[in-house]
Amino acid sequence: MRALTYHGHHDVRIETVDDPTIQQPDDIIVKVTTAGICGADLHLYRGKNSPMKLGDILGQEFIGEVVETGPEVTSVRKGDRVVVPSVIACGRCFFCKRGQHAACETTAGRDGGQSDRHIPPRAALFGFGHAHGAIPGGHAEYVRVPHGNVGPRPILDSLTDEQAIFLGSSLPASYQAAVEAGIGPGHSVAIFGAGPVGLLAAACARMLGAEQIFVIDHHPYRLAFAEKHYDAHTINFDEVDAPEQEIISRTAGRRGVDTVIDAVGFEAKGSTLETVLSKIKLEPGSSIALRQCLAAVRRGGHVSISGAYWGTTSNVALTEAFDRGVTLTMGQAHVHPYLSELQEHIAKGALQPEKIISHGMSLEEAAAGYLIFDRKEEECRKVILRP
Ligand SMILES: [Zn+2]
Repeated sequence: MRALTYHGHHDVRIETVDDPTIQQPDDIIVKVTTAGICGADLHLYRGKNSPMKLGDILGQEFIGEVVETGPEVTSVRKGDRVVVPSVIACGRCFFCKRGQHAACETTAGRDGGQSDRHIPPRAALFGFGHAHGAIPGGHAEYVRVPHGNVGPRPILDSLTDEQAIFLGSSLPASYQAAVEAGIGPGHSVAIFGAGPVGLLAAACARMLGAEQIFVIDHHPYRLAFAEKHYDAHTINFDEVDAPEQEIISRTAGRRGVDTVIDAVGFEAKGSTLETVLSKIKLEPGSSIALRQCLAAVRRGGHVSISGAYWGTTSNVALTEAFDRGVTLTMGQAHVHPYLSELQEHIAKGALQPEKIISHGMSLEEAAAGYLIFDRKEEECRKVILRP
């Protein structure tokens, strides 16, 4: 089959590789019909200390058709059109029973990688190399999906591929951030970062009834999109030195916003990051986006972190967070618990994630898709690939 493989820093290639096969009795094989390139894929693409090894297949967000099932698979059948969560969970462990699928402690195995506290690694992820279970990803014609009875979920007939593609990763990440923050009618929300997750978070906040939405980024075309589609107040941090002060000055009583969503995160020092963090004119490798988030939220408010943080994060303003009584939630999206309700929201038209797609390309053009998305060329918001 054809697949997008990793060859080093900023070097991904479409190659012919072996077709995946059933390895466990509850595996399925999915023929990918649509895949998305996510910000998390870019972390791997850019990273100088990537967990990827030569030839690893990328891609955490994909949907497709079940073409083969192991003998113990009962929840999906050949021919089913399914979304596959980026998080691979067993459905039976301590965490899965609590709906915390991203913490599944059985799937990453010895390649769990990043656990440094003598606790079990968190769940394996598709296409994340040797930090998360070494499971080949979905930027390919076919994918082996472990735990076929737990992860893959049939897609409602009324949803197009362009709508359903977001269900596997980026939409649950945005939705979890919004729901955990308790966003509701009349709330004020500030979203740092207008990449796919930030834009989808704005869509979720709007759906949940938020009244005032701020979006902070430095790409004018993305800010314009947020303004047009989510009626957001936008702040370009290339033009405004202290976005948090700008936000506060526009909230009732100068209290700050009820909720902040950090859809930027952190990239380890030495890797790229043309993002809010480094562009905000403070030292690279700091936790400044998070400090700005903590500075923009009101007393008793909520900061929800969906952007990935890797490595050591210093200088977080915990004194300020304590003083304000801030609630912090964060982490990889659990995906599985949200799939039914998100499909319903899309089917009703309450969420229209497909609007953020700016580029549709063939799998053969995937390397160009990564380049365009990474460089923010051609007003790129979201690239989808069709094998
Ligand atoms: Zn589990």
